[in-house]
Amino acid sequence: MTTTPRTVLITGGNRGIGFAIAEAFLAEGHRVAVTARSGEGPEGSLTVRADVTDAASIDAAFTEVEQKFGPVEVVVANAGVTRDTLLLRMSEDDFTDVVDTNLSGAFRVVKRAAKGMLKAKFGRVVLVSSVVGLYGSAGQINYSASKSGLIGIARSLTRELGSRGITANVVAPGFIETEMTAVLPEATQAEYKRNIPAGRFARPEEVAKAITWLASDDAAYISGAVIPVDGGLGMGH
Ligand code: NDP
Repeated sequence: MTTTPRTVLITGGNRGIGFAIAEAFLAEGHRVAVTARSGEGPEGSLTVRADVTDAASIDAAFTEVEQKFGPVEVVVANAGVTRDTLLLRMSEDDFTDVVDTNLSGAFRVVKRAAKGMLKAKFGRVVLVSSVVGLYGSAGQINYSASKSGLIGIARSLTRELGSRGITANVVAPGFIETEMTAVLPEATQAEYKRNIPAGRFARPEEVAKAITWLASDDAAYISGAVIPVDGGLGMGH
């Protein structure tokens, strides 16, 4: 794999998949910044405070990274939340809060990143979606809608900025071993595993590898794609 050292910004890099993504970029020798509301990214990364529901805090975080590392060339919109419940119990806040973080949050981050990328005529945008954005999921109408929406962002961005050296892709993880899935009851986890052709959940590093590859020089002609990292769970969706 060929990869030029880049300035990389990952949202939600203090734990879970975001932390693993930061570690993977660091291992390849990139300049890595993570946003966090609390805690820190991995050793060797720069941690900046930001809440993706707040455009001003995103702007301040980008400015801090630009001052330290130069323009952000690779952005990974990873921050996400769930608030699961069945439709009839789902409040308007349950819906809009999840969309505000997962979908509008990605919009804010990508919009801020695009400024520098247009100037540099280079950029890599990777949006962390989910298999349920393609497949649907009972009890996750809010989450699933927010994750489907990321595909619309990546594909529209590809059409708007594809001629400027900027790519935008989606990675759609299946079930990954993080705090988000650790809270699922054991019986539910076993039931999910029965439906995954790979027969297991993935490690966060397995998602991170797909993302570093999309940001590499080798992936310059891949844009508007949805790459599943789901052990075959979402095949055909
Ligand atoms: P975690 O719950 O472990 O981590 C979520 C991250 O998002 C944390 O860093 C959290 O920060 C951050 N975050 C949440 N809300 C905000 C906000 N408003 N502003 C800034 N940061 C915020 O989740 P995972 O690592 O499991 O998930 C990472 C991404 O991968 C998410 O988008 C998720 O939807 C997606 N995904 C996860 C799957 C899984 O099986 N785990 C499967 C498919 C997709 P803080 O610590 O401050 O709360």
